[in-house]
Amino acid sequence: MAEEAMINDNSVQDQWGQICSQLKNEVGDTAFESWLKPLSLGSFSDGVMNICVPTRFMRNWVITHYSDRIHKIWEKKNPAIKNINFIVQATREETPSLYNPTCRSLLKKITSTPAPQNIYQSGINSIIANNNDGALNDSLSVPLNPQYTFENFVVGKTNEFAYAAARKVAESRNISFNPLFLYSGVGLGKTHLMHAIAWHIKQQDPTRNIVYLSAEKFMYKFVRALRYKDTTAFKEQFRSVDVLMVDDVQFMGGKDTTQEEFFYTFNSLIEEGRQIIISADKSPADLEGIETRLKSRLGCGLVADIHPTDFDLRIGILNNKAQQLGVELPTKVAEFLAQKITSNIRELEGALRRVVAHSQLLADKEITLEMTQDVLKDMLRSYDKRTTIDEIQKKVAEHFNISVKEMQSSRRARTVARPRQIAMYLAKQLTSRSLPEIGRKFDRDHTTVMHAVRKVEELIVEDASLAESIEALKRTLEA
Ligand code: ADP
Ligand code: MG
Repeated sequence: MAEEAMINDNSVQDQWGQICSQLKNEVGDTAFESWLKPLSLGSFSDGVMNICVPTRFMRNWVITHYSDRIHKIWEKKNPAIKNINFIVQATREETPSLYNPTCRSLLKKITSTPAPQNIYQSGINSIIANNNDGALNDSLSVPLNPQYTFENFVVGKTNEFAYAAARKVAESRNISFNPLFLYSGVGLGKTHLMHAIAWHIKQQDPTRNIVYLSAEKFMYKFVRALRYKDTTAFKEQFRSVDVLMVDDVQFMGGKDTTQEEFFYTFNSLIEEGRQIIISADKSPADLEGIETRLKSRLGCGLVADIHPTDFDLRIGILNNKAQQLGVELPTKVAEFLAQKITSNIRELEGALRRVVAHSQLLADKEITLEMTQDVLKDMLRSYDKRTTIDEIQKKVAEHFNISVKEMQSSRRARTVARPRQIAMYLAKQLTSRSLPEIGRKFDRDHTTVMHAVRKVEELIVEDASLAESIEALKRTLEA
């Protein structure tokens, strides 16, 4: 009865609305628009909530990337919802736009008539921008962050090579390296450098057509083009591009048709002498689930990596950001932050912002070491508490009733191999360790870890009870 009451009225729809805004905050606008906004609520029965997803491809993506999170949030809001099921079904709002006459004629115009030269010069984006509704109505590129310029980029030992390469590409009229491939762990400045290149080129020559987009967006657009049976228009969009930047291409892993399309776009742009800039979290050779020919193509220009920060760079960045925020940062505080927050620049910046906001909110309270320690108490505590690989091995071994020694051994029996793969997967999910680092802890190389992560991702989709135990393990490890 109580269960009925919780679902009967509009509350589920309201809850869904709240969940969506929470997710939007968590994942950011781009990912939200691409993957979560197209979802819609379906029916509810026996504790199972159906959520409609427009395509199979999106369904798989949403399941691997967001279903745990959606489930977790919803469970908290409404205990009556025990499970969530994603079903492929076009949503009502979207179907009509397929038959929208304006949209159809626009599609026709783009796909069938050979466009006069001047239309391409102004770029397809401007044609699309004139049309206020329909399938193609959003521009290819996403807005650039005005803060992400070369001037605001602090250079140190760990990023000087990537910086020099980015500057070179931005400043040369002739193509020097193609593609430029930037890679690093998260929050170390890849996106910043890409935007900086774009700003610089725009400043030098505003007529150049620069497209910056995430690999997620590229995939989303391609999938949509497939859905609207309109890949020709999709391809046309790239024809007028002078500089193409695709951020975070690791997300293309395993998506074969999108990769093929990307490969095609990539090759034709390179052949026509357009500049391509790519970023990823790994070197081309180490990218997971990317076709070999694409990997070798990605690696055939200049590959530049950004290493984890060192103390000096962290101090440099803190001083630079403090200056931008217009505050005086005592040396002691800068040193404290640079010592404690070593993971990446995004977190370092976040911590500084919190301290500054606190001091300003409290009527310009002075920034001191004590105040900093106090304001960042929770953050630093969770920092100290971050799960270690040792802990993961121990907990997973316990759960599956094997010893940690066995887990690290060379035994391949399923009873040992599966828990080992799960532990590797959790290590990748819950720590910021690289694949080789994780591998070492298991006496394996990084390809084995990569394989394990992929395997477990598959198992989670296929095997609900295993997915549940993994979720439970995650919860205990994060507690
Ligand atoms: P990534 O794309 O590698 O995950 P970002 O480029 O988003 O990282 O950088 C994360 C944050 O750190 C951004 O706010 C960016 O401006 C800042 N940042 C990164 N590297 C530097 C740097 N060398 N100097 C100043 N700020 C930086
Ligand atoms: Mg980035």
